[in-house]
Amino acid sequence: MRLRELLSGARGAKQENRQKIIRAVLSRAGNQTDLVRRSGMSSATVSEAVRELERNGIVRTEKQGRDTLVRLAPVEGVAVGVELGYQKTVIVGRLAHQERHECVSRTLQVGASSGETHWVRAVAVAVQELVSEFGEPHDLATLGLAVPRMISPRTGRFAPPTLPPWEKESVPDVSLAEELADLRAAAGGGGRPSLPRPLLDNDANLGALAESVYAHSGREILLYVKASTGVGAGLFVGGRLFRGANGVAGELGHVMVDPNGRFCLCGGRGCLETLIGADRLVDRARLVLGDKITAYRGLADMIDKARTGDALAGRMLREAGTQLGYAIGNVCNIINPNVVVVGGSLAQAGSLVLGPCRDAIEATAMTAAYEADTGFVVEASTVEHASAQGALLLGLEGTTYRD
Ligand SMILES: [Zn+2]
Repeated sequence: MRLRELLSGARGAKQENRQKIIRAVLSRAGNQTDLVRRSGMSSATVSEAVRELERNGIVRTEKQGRDTLVRLAPVEGVAVGVELGYQKTVIVGRLAHQERHECVSRTLQVGASSGETHWVRAVAVAVQELVSEFGEPHDLATLGLAVPRMISPRTGRFAPPTLPPWEKESVPDVSLAEELADLRAAAGGGGRPSLPRPLLDNDANLGALAESVYAHSGREILLYVKASTGVGAGLFVGGRLFRGANGVAGELGHVMVDPNGRFCLCGGRGCLETLIGADRLVDRARLVLGDKITAYRGLADMIDKARTGDALAGRMLREAGTQLGYAIGNVCNIINPNVVVVGGSLAQAGSLVLGPCRDAIEATAMTAAYEADTGFVVEASTVEHASAQGALLLGLEGTTYRD
């Protein structure tokens, strides 16, 4: 059974239900109750679809107490997710019937800032190498790409204005597809099925998708905050990503926190990202330290030094946590999430950032928005490479773009 054939073509209501179940099981094996919740279908419809899929050898079931565990039968084809950052790229891959912990991953010290000709080639080669590790008869079956930019839900392309390092004409998913096809042609890979079309989305959106599938299934409103070089948020509401009319939903990094602050790449001024973006934190420390002391080599170095008692690094990280918390607290007053997950490189600082962040959320949000007895939690992300994992899920589940 080939993964790509399993995902192709669904006609009629019954076929669509079958397809929904297949896609839910591809993302994660689960019991029938969980499938009812994730697919949004009735329990009778799910039972009928599962029985039919089992008769056709597509899923396998196993009694689990009063419930039934449903998992995909072994399939051929590798699902790959790519998280393209500014300076580095993470690639994850697994066979669709494997679990998340069985993923293989690669981290490349190449990113969007390295320039398109460079990153596209390096990422395509790494994807090919990762897929070849699975051996025959497996081939690349699905591919998702996460980028730190807004993506229009209407077109699946960059929402304007296109910000550096990309240009107006940039289509990173198409560039990656062409490079993969060139590599395949050069290797003489004729006679095999054509390569899948990569699907593209914003990195924070995909982080939210991964968190909702793997860590917080069943939470109605999930806010995932990715605080790295850029700061962004993904919203998963009522079983699907909430992207906004033009893909701007969740642009937390461009919430204004200081009307007289620094100008921002987005054309705004005093955006949160200009204060607490990873590069900006390190630059600000450099301004303070000047040439007197060796400045921090990057955010990871700053976090290491804070942990060993460096007063400036500790203070800057605590303040960054506070600023982030104020912004999240304001969002909590508007969307009232059940769970806030903080990921990205700033979250690597753990309680140094998360502690002040929680305090600031409580100082900003209405009491009913954060009280623990309502089940509200603020947590550090536990899904390693959440945006890359979300990109992998995007490839498996397909997009919900409108056209
Ligand atoms: Zn901005």
